Amino acid sequence: MIDHDIIVIGGGLAGLRAALEADKKGVDVAIISKVHPIRSHSGAAQGGINASLGLDDSWGSHALDTVKGSDYLADQDTVEILCREAPERVIEMENWGTNFSRTEDGNIAQRPFGGAGFPRTCYAGDRTGHNLLHTLYEQVLRSGIKVYSEWLVTKLIVDKEKCVGFLAMNTIDSKLESFRAKATILATGGYGRIYQRSTNAIINRGSGIGLAYTAGVPLQDMEFVQFHPTTLLGTNILITEGARGEGGYLYNKNHERFMINYAANAMELAQRDIVARAIQTEIDEGRAFPGGYVQLDITHLGNDTINERLPGIRQISIDFAGVDPVKEPIPVQPGQHYSMGGVSSNKDGETPVSGLYAVGECACISVHGANRLGGNSLLDTVVFGKRAGAAASDYIVSQEAISDDILSKAIADENEMIKALMGESGENFAEIREELQAVMQNNVGVFRTREKLDLAFERIKELKKRADNIKVMSKTNVFNFELLNALELKAMLELAQVITLGALVREESRGAHFRTDFTERNDEEWLKHTLAYYTEEGPRLAYKDVTITQFQPKRREY
Ligand SMILES: Cc1cc2nc3c(=O)[nH]c(=O)nc-3n(C[C@H](O)[C@H](O)[C@H](O)COP(=O)(O)OP(=O)(O)OC[C@H]3O[C@@H](n4cnc5c(N)ncnc54)[C@H](O)[C@@H]3O)c2cc1C
Repeated sequence: MIDHDIIVIGGGLAGLRAALEADKKGVDVAIISKVHPIRSHSGAAQGGINASLGLDDSWGSHALDTVKGSDYLADQDTVEILCREAPERVIEMENWGTNFSRTEDGNIAQRPFGGAGFPRTCYAGDRTGHNLLHTLYEQVLRSGIKVYSEWLVTKLIVDKEKCVGFLAMNTIDSKLESFRAKATILATGGYGRIYQRSTNAIINRGSGIGLAYTAGVPLQDMEFVQFHPTTLLGTNILITEGARGEGGYLYNKNHERFMINYAANAMELAQRDIVARAIQTEIDEGRAFPGGYVQLDITHLGNDTINERLPGIRQISIDFAGVDPVKEPIPVQPGQHYSMGGVSSNKDGETPVSGLYAVGECACISVHGANRLGGNSLLDTVVFGKRAGAAASDYIVSQEAISDDILSKAIADENEMIKALMGESGENFAEIREELQAVMQNNVGVFRTREKLDLAFERIKELKKRADNIKVMSKTNVFNFELLNALELKAMLELAQVITLGALVREESRGAHFRTDFTERNDEEWLKHTLAYYTEEGPRLAYKDVTITQFQPKRREY
């Protein structure tokens, strides 16, 4: 058994920031992650991080933009914290060494992003996440925090409604180990790979969200899935919103800047859900290029601007699509990008289970509501990562370590489960996963209807049944990827079911959730958060109020 006061699951920005805060408070804290921390998806973030640094900007306008962007589903008290604490967190990252791009007079440069009334997005070229992640990892190294890299956490241990630790598999030798912690902080990121087309890293499978769900913590607002309007045709690698922020245009096959028909004022810089639906409509109505894409044109920005502000995008386009954006437009289509929903937690990352915290993309603290603004997610990780690290450090002071018995029993049960998974013939995890991804892509995407959602729900139920017969044939103990994938698939199926059921029941259109059979937002019946509880028979849904402080819901217009 391994023992620490606090263990953070996840080595992305949220996890590293939480661990640093606990360390600063003198607590024995460790980080565990299924990949080396700097391989986390945070490192892929391109466009930037929001903070109202400008003299004419204010946290209040940042909050209004965020609430409006959320289609009024975000909790306004937590949005206020996010926007109020943003400048301090961004300056702190600068002080720790992040190489932000600069204005001519030496200030942190800020670019306009969709749905923002002000150029508020701080960036490091188009490699902002890489810079931020390395900065925090350097701080973790400096502090000497213990990091367990390449361990997959498979189960949370909850005893008398308190999280007392977890089990994890060391991927180097496939051995299970128990970890005892007075507090556990989940910072496990999103689940993008439930979909066929996603900008997310292949490791983003949502198994961390699944850990909390099956341990009895409700998942919140899972039907709200962000589809990014511009992902590269073929691989669906992200082409940052920064490309439109710098002045890029979108064209259909008739060379029309079609955004004029969808958001005449904001044009290409309308919010993500609006631009994604516009592109999907162009595709569905036959105005896209053969193969289902539109063009993102940045050629008019010129060689120098592209090389200085969007070098990563240029390289990605050349490497993965054979297109040089200096000379020709980039072929793009919408793809899954971000999870607004997640483990239900509050302004300090506390979940309903004591001793368990959730922050970052795996959590739903509800600052993004029905649609996240670009640049607000990186911000979410550092603001609430810090807060959760501090809250967990205060919590553990009054906690006693539990006896070993509970963990020993749990590990014996988990070993039995894994033994039963090994075999010579049965279902193959990859086939089920591919079918799941297609079901979600085709039926729970940008546009949703009752028929499609019903169909998806039934198909996922069948896939879950088939998954009970998965057998892992690879017998190696060293990096047994077949076993790791099979273990993570269970959570993917659970989450897909929660997303689909939430979307089926929510008979309205709000933010990223668009029902072609209920096209209007319906505040009277649906201005509420969805909560999904795990049961053996499938998710049980409940609802809770949205916190409204200063901004009364209005119609969104751009
Ligand atoms: C391509 C791309 C570009 C983006 N660009 C921007 C942007 O410009 N601005 C912005 O605000 N947002 C952006 N986002 C979103 C933002 O980057 C993410 O939401 C954010 O970085 C998530 O951070 P995180 O710490 O919550 O999770 P992650 O960085 O995803 O880290 C998750 C961690 O959890 C670990 N983990 C997961 N499951 C387990 C398990 N079962 N056991 C052990 N460890 C586990 C992983 O190893 C990893 O270390 C972008 C996202 C993508 C995909």
